[in-house]
Parts: sequence; structure tokens; C-alpha cells
Amino acid sequence: KYILAIESSCDDTSAAVLCGTKVLSNVVATQEIHKQYGGVVPELASRAHQQNIVPVVHQALAKANIDKKQLSAIAFTRGPGLMGSLLVGTSFAKSLALGLDIPLIEVNHMEAHILAHFIEDENQTAPTFPFLGMTISGGHTQIVKVTDYFSMEVLGETLDDAVGEAFDKSAKLMGLPYPGGPLIDKYAKLGNPEAFPFPKPKVDWLNFSFSGLKTSILYFLQRETRKNPEFVSEHMTDICASVQHTILEILMEKLQLAVNQTGIKQIAIGGGVAANSGIRARLKDAEEKLGWQTFIPKFEYCTDNAAMIGIVGYLKFEKGKFTDQSIAAKARYAIGAN
Ligand code: ATP
Ligand code: FE
Repeated sequence: KYILAIESSCDDTSAAVLCGTKVLSNVVATQEIHKQYGGVVPELASRAHQQNIVPVVHQALAKANIDKKQLSAIAFTRGPGLMGSLLVGTSFAKSLALGLDIPLIEVNHMEAHILAHFIEDENQTAPTFPFLGMTISGGHTQIVKVTDYFSMEVLGETLDDAVGEAFDKSAKLMGLPYPGGPLIDKYAKLGNPEAFPFPKPKVDWLNFSFSGLKTSILYFLQRETRKNPEFVSEHMTDICASVQHTILEILMEKLQLAVNQTGIKQIAIGGGVAANSGIRARLKDAEEKLGWQTFIPKFEYCTDNAAMIGIVGYLKFEKGKFTDQSIAAKARYAIGAN
């Protein structure tokens, strides 16, 4: 069984072909246009998806060495995401399924970030049920209790900015280019994480808040540069290490709380921030000291990609969970809401 998957929720156009749980191809066209604006511009994203989608799908089929007539189903991201972007993938998937007369499968992008762990790959191991999923990306920050493939409960999420946004916005305040997350990570390695203490927000339960951190960094930098205009450049590594340290403290504290609350010690991480070397070190440490078992998929399955949509497509295909042509994209789409 071959499944074609399409992802277009934000600024990456992606198509993948899966055979069962194996990925035959996973093509991602990243939209470079947004860099000059320091963030994703929705209108430009949707236009770029329209330009990219046909060549990206062609490339995915060609790389997998599959003719579209061999496909058994088409899976696509229904939401959550930018409406204009979602519409491109949704209409494309619907038309292609109609034309080929094969089933259509809708996928929740947030469920896909978690189920990406079940892609069969020599470089990754899947957790067993039940486990805690933590998705940390440029648009989302969520802790989810996963009891089965389609039985998930959101335990907590961000009330404002996502963790990736916190990295990127802090970087921007320091004059670093977008996206600044990877750069903070790079400089943080050379700095002292306790050089500048930033306050951690007080948020109930397992929810997160990162907008206050951004504000306190802004005030801190304004205050210091008034005294010394060269402050940022002179202390770049220490500032980065301190910012990263604060963010990691917040993430680890909430994870610890989720573990205490559920008694579950298997933690499966996803999203682009999973690339952060600091979080990886902290998780490794928790494995040794706290007996946690942690899982991080291959990086190309952490950031937005169609392979993770495809694995959900396959799991739904096996259960006969299809959808019909009346389906519409859903910009706000909570886990478990279908
Ligand atoms: P979505 O939320 O829909 O997944 P996205 O495209 O914004 O959307 P990803 O592609 O998963 O998210 O991740 C991008 C984010 O990850 C950016 O905010 C980027 O700064 C951050 N990021 C990537 N590498 C690192 C790193 N090494 N350290 C910290 N942050 C990182
Ligand atoms: Fe995503």
C-alpha cells in the first residue's frame, strides 16, 4: 500500500510517499521568502505553496519511484495552521483523490508531530503506550498524554508565544538573523548559563507562557546598553547561554510536573526546537538521574514534514478512517477534535 501525504500548514510545502510505515520519499520545499521579513508572512506563504505544490508532489513520487496510479490513498494536513496555506494542500489533496478515485484521509498536524515517532527508521525507536509527547516548535508548545495512536489528551500548552518563538524573538532583540533559535544554541555552548538570571513565568499546571520572558530580556538589554552600547556584542555568549538556560528550566520543570502527575516516564519530543543541543543534554541527564526514557525522531521528522502526515495516514488507512470530499481545512484544530 502506497500513501501520498501532503503538508502545507505553515511555510514549508512538503510531500511524502510511504509504503506501510516506511518512508520512500519526503520532499520539503522551505520558503526562503520569509527570511527578509523576520517571520512568516501568511499571504506570501499561501502563494508560495501554490507555486511549490505540483513540483514537490512530482518530486516525491519520482524519488519513491511510484506512479500516481499505484497510490492507495491521499493523506493531507487539515489543520491547525494558517488558513491560506492549509487551503492549498487541502484542495490539492481533494482534487487528486477525486481524480484517482482513491480514499482521502485528513490529518491533524499536532497529532502527526507525535505520531512521527512511529515512522519505521533505523535511526529512531518508537515509545510504547502510554507516553508523554512534548511538541516544541516555532508555532507550538504542548505536553500531551498519549494512550493509543488516536487517544491523546493535551495536558498543557502555551498561553501565548511558542518556545521556538521565544528563541527567535530573543535572538532578534540581540540583533541576530531569523530564525535565531539555532544561533542561540550555538553561542550558548560558549557562555555561562548563570551569567544573567531571567525570571521564570508563573503559570498554572502544565501550561506555558513565554511572552513575559521576551519582555524581561528586552528591558534587560535596554538597561545594559544604556550603560554600555557594546553590551550585547561583548556578552553575546553569556546572554545566549542565560536565555537558553531559562527556557530549558521552564521546559524541564513542566515535564517533571507531567511525569509526577501521570507517573509516565517515557517522553517523546518533537518539533524543530528538539534540535536544541541543550534540551538534548538535559533529557539525557534525566535518563541517567531520573530513570526517564526519552525519544527524539530523526531531525527531518521533527520539523514540519509530510512523512509524519503519511504515518498518520497509514495508521488511519489500516483502521478505515477515511473522509469525504465535503471536508474543509480547519485553522484551529485541537488534538482529538475530529
Ligand atoms: P510548527 O509550529 O507548525 O511546527 P515551525 O515551522 O515554526 O512550525 P519547526 O520547523 O518545527 O516550526 O521549528 C522551527 C523552530 O525551531 C524555530 O523557531 C527555530 O528557531 C527553532 N529551532 C531550530 N533549531 C533550534 C535549536 N538548535 N535551538 C533552538 N531552537 C531551534
Ligand atoms: Fe509543525
